[in-house]
Amino acid sequence: MELHVSLQKSFGAFSLDVTFTVQGERVGVFGPSGSGKSTLASLLAGLQQPDNGVIRLDGELIYDSQGAINVPPEQRRIGIVFQRPYLFPHMSVKGNLLYGYKRSAPANRRIDFDSLVAVLQIGHLLSRGVHNLSGGEKQRVAIGRTVLSSPRLLLMDEPLSALDDTLKFQIIDYLKAASEAFRIPYLFISHSLLEMRIMADRVLAVSAGRIEAQTTAEDLARSRMGLSPVGYINLLRLAHPRRVGGMSAYAWGGTELLISAGSDRPEALFELSSKDIILIKQHPDAISARNLLDCAVSGTFRSGNKVGVDLACGDGRLVAEVVQEAARELGIEKGSRLFAAIKASAFRRLG
Ligand code: ADP
Ligand code: MG
Repeated sequence: MELHVSLQKSFGAFSLDVTFTVQGERVGVFGPSGSGKSTLASLLAGLQQPDNGVIRLDGELIYDSQGAINVPPEQRRIGIVFQRPYLFPHMSVKGNLLYGYKRSAPANRRIDFDSLVAVLQIGHLLSRGVHNLSGGEKQRVAIGRTVLSSPRLLLMDEPLSALDDTLKFQIIDYLKAASEAFRIPYLFISHSLLEMRIMADRVLAVSAGRIEAQTTAEDLARSRMGLSPVGYINLLRLAHPRRVGGMSAYAWGGTELLISAGSDRPEALFELSSKDIILIKQHPDAISARNLLDCAVSGTFRSGNKVGVDLACGDGRLVAEVVQEAARELGIEKGSRLFAAIKASAFRRLG
């Protein structure tokens, strides 16, 4: 997917003024509340009119104020999933799903109903009304309805923000599965850096109606480490735990990690803050932290007044952070060796 945008739109004191070209299948739009993300989404989908500008999607001009081109929303083939599902209350689940299908021109229809129902695991809900669905089920139906309209681009405007953590990670899996199974590129909009890391490769960072940077989710996380109260979040997908005392032992990087908040599920996603990794020069005799990893420094970076330390621990990779004095005292530089101590309780299970 290639999207070229140059748009201006003002509402009183707020103005959106953005110019960018972005390529990729998993693009993120990241910015704080009020920065103009939803305005950008509604301009792209054609739900609002820009004051000025151009939108070109995969080489096709869908909006051009100079050339007076303004392809109507239903012909743009841009689907939107919102924070709230907005299902039609008088229709069954199946009716809601088919609405998306009927809205698309027959020549463009390329999503098989049964395959989509299988990917979203909503087969048992089809004849139900939408009132008694759970929040997660409603969001799955809303995703299904949008995907069935065979969009060439899916806009997801904070689709996870109204969900609690457990549900959020289930919906993430469904969103990924649907976009991958039917090869639909997406623009994933969120104020959550963690969601960007999971959902997006290229990221447009938006601030006060302007594009502040076009970067990767990984670089964004690194550049914000020193300013963020939670540091850099290491994401670890771990599988097949073994019970050890009251903890779970997961294979990782050629060694094992001991984690208090383990789960019996075959696979789980954990976060570990760069602030929760203690770096030590010499192997201690005994230590209360249950994880002591032998690591090499593969690089360092600066963020705020902190030094980020890229660690290679066997085949595992982690980012730790230290203040500059600590980096000096420990002699941290590329190639130096350290031990990383991590408490079993420092890992938080996400999904
Ligand atoms: P975000 O999605 O990043 O939270 P929005 O695009 O919703 O940001 O809003 C950006 C700014 O534009 C906010 O200050 C908001 O109040 C304003 N705004 C959005 N839509 C309208 C509108 N239809 N009329 C007036 N102001 C609007
Ligand atoms: Mg918004």
